[in-house]
Amino acid sequence: MKQTTVANRVESVGIGLHKGEPIEIILEPLEANNGIVFYRSDVGMSVKASPGNVVNTNNATVIGDGQNYISTIEHLLSAVYSYGIDNILIILNGAEVPVMDGSGTSFCMMLDEAQRRELDENKSVLIIKREVEVTDGKKFARVKPTKKPSYNFEIDFPHPVIGKQNYQFIFSKKAYIEEISKARTFGFLKDVQYLQSRGLALGGSLDNAIVLDDKKILNPGGLRFKDEFVKHKILDAIGDLALLGAPVLADYESFAGSHNLNHLLTKEILKDPKNYEVRDFAMIEELEFIEVFA
Ligand SMILES: [Zn+2]
Repeated sequence: MKQTTVANRVESVGIGLHKGEPIEIILEPLEANNGIVFYRSDVGMSVKASPGNVVNTNNATVIGDGQNYISTIEHLLSAVYSYGIDNILIILNGAEVPVMDGSGTSFCMMLDEAQRRELDENKSVLIIKREVEVTDGKKFARVKPTKKPSYNFEIDFPHPVIGKQNYQFIFSKKAYIEEISKARTFGFLKDVQYLQSRGLALGGSLDNAIVLDDKKILNPGGLRFKDEFVKHKILDAIGDLALLGAPVLADYESFAGSHNLNHLLTKEILKDPKNYEVRDFAMIEELEFIEVFA
């Protein structure tokens, strides 16, 4: 199996969640062994998607070079990863990936339009060799060795509409598009109001998030899935783990995980070479794994 990139340049525009201003996004092909690279055309910053370049994980995953940053990369990365794209240049003319509808759908549509192209170099996979876990009180995120990658997430919100939700997602591109990509981010009205009073989340609206007050969902259309909340957490986890820079052969499990725990997990994995092995996809036993990106 060879590395891939997008076949065509595609562009779109949407508003940034935090500043509420329109941002243009362009996806372009990139040569092998470059990975996922972001470029901010307004300030001339280039930054690779990797755990070492993460600068903030409050509310969203943010990467930067110490001077400039790009916020809310996780939904786009989730789609790029699930489409099996190894190398891609993402050009933005602002400090955020547009929020679109709060899910991965728009990015999947862009990637469908861009299509996938094989490159000459072999693809690698990151195989988890032993359990790695990070915790924060009762909250945890962990990966375990497996033959078939999966994401198992549980949330427990003291809210009448959310409550306890658990979802086990057996990963494949097809299942991602059907079960996960459409799940929107969510927030509570009181948090949105607080953030907006501080000049944040200015683009936040019922068009790009599920918003809840203390009792109910405020979006007139309701939910896309009854368990949309936990499915979105899986969408986020796939995007956050995509920062590892290769398809990850692991079972991921989390209770009440966050961008921060996911980020700590990627760092913990890379800290000890005994935790993982990067292997060429040509190895026969991984042939089944590559089919998940078909
Ligand atoms: Zn999210």
